[in-house]
Amino acid sequence: MTPQDNLAAVLYGIEDLRLERRPTPIPQDHQVLLKIATVGICGSDVHFLVNGRIGSYVLEKPMIIGHEASGTVLEVGKNVTNLKPGDRVAIEPGVGCRTCSFCKKGKYHLCSDMIFCASPPYDGNLCRYYVHDADFCFKLPDNVSLEEGTLIEPLAVGVHACKRAKVRFGDVVLILGAGPIGLVTLLAAKAMGATKTIITDLVGGRLDKAKELGVDYTLKIEKNMTEVEIVSKIEELLQEAPDVSLECTGVEQCVRVALEATKTGGVVTLVGLGKFELTLPLENAILREVDIRGVFRYNNDYPAAIEMVKTGKVDLKPLITYHFRIEDSGKAFHMAKTGEGNPIKILIHPNPDDYY
Ligand code: NAD
Ligand code: ZN
Repeated sequence: MTPQDNLAAVLYGIEDLRLERRPTPIPQDHQVLLKIATVGICGSDVHFLVNGRIGSYVLEKPMIIGHEASGTVLEVGKNVTNLKPGDRVAIEPGVGCRTCSFCKKGKYHLCSDMIFCASPPYDGNLCRYYVHDADFCFKLPDNVSLEEGTLIEPLAVGVHACKRAKVRFGDVVLILGAGPIGLVTLLAAKAMGATKTIITDLVGGRLDKAKELGVDYTLKIEKNMTEVEIVSKIEELLQEAPDVSLECTGVEQCVRVALEATKTGGVVTLVGLGKFELTLPLENAILREVDIRGVFRYNNDYPAAIEMVKTGKVDLKPLITYHFRIEDSGKAFHMAKTGEGNPIKILIHPNPDDYY
């Protein structure tokens, strides 16, 4: 029996988030119908709420918001063999076209025709019932909760960033920015073998969270610090230069510091999204062969991210700081926007029986 009451959080325009009932979608043959458990708020969701756009992605018609989600399978299409009703899954929100050269080579995250949740014009999954392609739903092991399943999405970004940087056992790793993405990148780097880690941020509370997650050193950046001071403090704390730097702020100063601080022959990966036109000290990339690598979401990284949580190599639970019902989505987004209460990850529960 298909459930009927599909309450959804729909973004109509700038600062115009409304609750409305949408028809419950019907899965196609290769899809599953999911009862959504929890949905995390990401900076990009807030960006759409505040600005109505991210770059060339412009909100032109009402869109269900949300893309970090987990849920329980209610129905499966007739061609689905990997899942059955009752399975709990993490949802990978972007599905490529499956036919372009990127999709065919397995680099589906670079597909220009990707359908991605809550990336206009496509609806997201902050709603009670949602359909998704079954092969982009990953079954959660019994010891991984649905709430942790929601955080597989950001963790997959961290895993992808560390794979792009080729983090391996024994590496000294610098992470710039201790927001949710910097923190999951820290967790992924440690799980992938980083033996000495340092993280920077402007906000003490975020560095405290990084300490709770096991970072070795923290550096609080003060507004008046010069880049030379920041680089020398990093080296002083580590007693050496980092092999890998993972930039998770999008701030020009941090990209510059990453390039200056990284060991000769090392790697800088750029995860943070800020201004795309920057002035950078490229002599580090040229004369010291510090490689610069971009990171775009994830690509076949969900299985590894789930395995990290299943085996206890990564604990995502300390990142979850607040819970809201879908009816209080406005309050949840207000908190995410203002940072009041120092949230790291805010989870919204669309179904009343999943909220306690
Ligand atoms: P966030 O805004 O919560 O975290 C950024 C952190 O950087 C904050 O804690 C902030 O205090 C800190 N910061 C700002 N200026 C700093 C400075 N000068 N020095 C040190 N720290 C500084 O954002 P988030 O959700 O953690 O995401 C981080 C970035 O990653 C964002 O730019 C986001 O758009 C981007 N992102 C990229 C991808 C991708 O696929 N490339 C995916 C997800 C998010
Ligand atoms: Zn494609």
